[in-house]
Amino acid sequence: MSTTLQAVRGMNDVLPVDAPRWEFFESCVREWLRAYGYQPIRMPILERTELFVRSIGEVTDIVEKEMYTFVDTLNGESLTLRPEGTASCVRAALQHNLLYNASQRLYYMGPMFRHERPQKGRYRQFHQVGVESLGFAGPDMDVEHIVMTADLWKRLGLEGIRLEINTLGSAAARARHRAKLIAWFEQHQDQLDEDAQRRLHSNPLRILDTKNPAMQALVEAAPRLMDELEPEDLAHFEAVQELLRAAGISYSINPRLVRGLDYYNYTVFEWVTDRLGAQGTVCAGGRYDGLVTQMGGKETPACGFAMGVERLLALLEEAQVAVPDLAPDVYVVHQGEAASRFAWQASMQLRQHGLNVVLHCGGGSFKSQMKKADGSGAAFAVIIGDNEAENGQVTLKPLRELGEQALVDVTEAARLIHEQK
Ligand code: ATP
Ligand code: MG
Repeated sequence: MSTTLQAVRGMNDVLPVDAPRWEFFESCVREWLRAYGYQPIRMPILERTELFVRSIGEVTDIVEKEMYTFVDTLNGESLTLRPEGTASCVRAALQHNLLYNASQRLYYMGPMFRHERPQKGRYRQFHQVGVESLGFAGPDMDVEHIVMTADLWKRLGLEGIRLEINTLGSAAARARHRAKLIAWFEQHQDQLDEDAQRRLHSNPLRILDTKNPAMQALVEAAPRLMDELEPEDLAHFEAVQELLRAAGISYSINPRLVRGLDYYNYTVFEWVTDRLGAQGTVCAGGRYDGLVTQMGGKETPACGFAMGVERLLALLEEAQVAVPDLAPDVYVVHQGEAASRFAWQASMQLRQHGLNVVLHCGGGSFKSQMKKADGSGAAFAVIIGDNEAENGQVTLKPLRELGEQALVDVTEAARLIHEQK
């Protein structure tokens, strides 16, 4: 008995039956980003491990336990399948001098890799659309990102996604808060779980993000970053809120929102839905003014966000949003030598008229070819026998709706098909 090969756990195939939703989503997203002046950038899927350790931070879930890291046996270099896109995008911008006297609005989409426990809405290969605005101090840019995502939900026909925002303040406020947090958690060391113990001195902010119910009370009572914010931090946050109100976007402030990556400051936000169970965050982002210098570039304020494509697609499915199908307009069946030659020409002509045409391959009886035509989902069959070929005509037969078949020339066939589209 032979065993068939299976995909790697947590890494999914997208089959033709699901492809229309992906295609619809991706083309919607491209059009949307173009409408806001964002330019596409494509980075490699594989990067040096050091890039992520340096940018995302050593004591984060991603770097501690989620990265697919391996040694390139050819040169001993440690490489990692990208777990997110911001680090690569900033690396590319620096490497190619895109920030020299310039700001950039960039976007990318593609697969990301994290070694997590697979479950609904959480996979080991998943897809993100990432948007990065480099060289903008905000708060207008923070709000542009939020306003444009709200617009995308509308374009996609999605409802019930709510906005949560928070501010992480300036580096100085965070340093003071950090010191107070460490002192607080040190006083309550006996109540810390293993993760929290480990993070206590390296990344105490992340303790606030714990999912451990036994630690909730302790975390609720911990010193609040809000109390450390300087007037200008608050002014930035207030300006963001004012612009949001002016744009008519409702939001709630979630003081617990800290994000899983180290490099954020000031504004952070998440778009969340209740319709997907536990994995309800469909889009997350914020400001990361320190990242570019952290990676060796000149001081460059920046912000960005990433959407989880699988989660948004699940939402589209759940909301039964209609998406254009990918069935061809026409399936061309043909029999006989002259007919087959003409069928090639006729198919090409139909395509030149802007139609999507499947030309039957592999021979067979008219009956079996018509079965395939039906199965293809095409709206019409074009039937070509030697008689038709001789007169340069085709028989056009509607497959989805009742209607007479007609013997017409190719241009007329194209016109009739377009009329029905
Ligand atoms: P979570 O708290 O759910 O693990 P995160 O903070 O790790 O999320 P980000 O790094 O901010 O997530 O990634 C942005 C978005 O990418 C998430 O909001 C989510 O929609 C999506 N995402 C992240 N990890 C996965 C995954 N393993 N599978 C599917 N989608 C994911
Ligand atoms: Mg995560």
